[in-house]
Amino acid sequence: MITGIDILLASAALAALGFLTVARLRLRASQQHSQSEAKAARALYEQEIADAHEERNRLLDALGDAFVLVDGDGIIRFANAAAHDLFGKRELIRRPVREAFLDPRLAEALLQCLETGEPVQSRVVLPQQTSPRGDLETRGVNAWIIDAARLPAPPGGDSITRVIIRDVTTEHQTEQIRKDFVANASHELRTPMAIINGYLENLLDDHMLDEPEIARRFLTVMRKHADRISRIVEDMLVISRLESGEAASLKIEPFRLRSCIKDVLERLESVIRSQTADILVLMPDESLTLQGDRFYWTQVLFNLVENALKQNPHPGLRVEIGCESAGEQHRIWVADNGIGIPSADLPHIFRRFFRVEKHHSQHEIKGTGLGLSIVKRAIEAHGGSISVTSVPGRETKFLIIIPKNADFTQKPSL
Ligand code: ADP
Repeated sequence: MITGIDILLASAALAALGFLTVARLRLRASQQHSQSEAKAARALYEQEIADAHEERNRLLDALGDAFVLVDGDGIIRFANAAAHDLFGKRELIRRPVREAFLDPRLAEALLQCLETGEPVQSRVVLPQQTSPRGDLETRGVNAWIIDAARLPAPPGGDSITRVIIRDVTTEHQTEQIRKDFVANASHELRTPMAIINGYLENLLDDHMLDEPEIARRFLTVMRKHADRISRIVEDMLVISRLESGEAASLKIEPFRLRSCIKDVLERLESVIRSQTADILVLMPDESLTLQGDRFYWTQVLFNLVENALKQNPHPGLRVEIGCESAGEQHRIWVADNGIGIPSADLPHIFRRFFRVEKHHSQHEIKGTGLGLSIVKRAIEAHGGSISVTSVPGRETKFLIIIPKNADFTQKPSL
């Protein structure tokens, strides 16, 4: 939203604008005095005008939002530094707004204000191709608030309309992600709920309770789906805790990464054994100690190793867990030689509820699609980052980079 400082700056700049108009009128009046008086007065007023111009530009350039002044004919008379940046340094002054604002939807609010004289505020969502930033736009769909209002016209002065253009793309994307999260979460929960309801109906309405064998089978299926609901809700709570700033209250303490790895391998021991997977721990410094929340680190490593096992149930799997210190960073990785992740899916892999379609059908019930989101958020809450590379069948590697002097105040991205 438009802040107090913005309003202060804009008001100061507009006061300077008012002064400019008054100075111009005084300049006109001075032309009627004696020639020598008029010359001196003219020099003085010209200086005042130049100073006021400079002051106005300085104040308006300090605004973070694009600020444009347009005359009654829809011609741009002034654009601050943010406006020039926004329009990719294209020439703006003396150009009609219709021409300068690439997409007519951007100019709409302003044109309406020019026509009616009434203030207009509107929110515009544009595709990447028609962003006012032109080729500089790389964020995809972009969103803007256009705020146009006519300034009080000074006596004898032209009517001027001011337009503020605020970039709200980040807010728009966050809102979109939240909407998707709710939609996806509801969808994910609805399937097991519907299955449980279906079986309940059978049991109660079709008198299946009288058939203990069938009833037991139905109850077993119901329990599996109820477990799934619990897992999804648990994972959503972890994500929401990490996102809601509780990351700031992580229990930060020194812990040995080796003991974390040991816990993870113990928890997964029976799967490792039943799949006859080969686990290799590469850790030149066995005593390596991290500063962080041991609970989340265990969860991070657990999710990564469990994913490798889950996606590759056949014998012959080799999982490598490694860690090395390089300069100011620790590099921690989990790599496997399994089925891998198709390159088209790699950019989406950390998104909530994302699952590779191909894998999904084989392991319909196992994953929630939230494991890697938790991993990413937990690492970001520790001031680190995670990336993934995959050559299917050869190596799929999740690499975590964590600064030795981590900043725990970093907000996790969505
Ligand atoms: P899930 O709960 O489904 O495992 P994740 O967020 O942990 O959700 O993982 C998302 C998807 O990424 C998985 O469904 C799987 O398709 C893919 N994936 C993750 N790790 C691996 C891996 N090591 N090898 C192959 N695919 C993987």
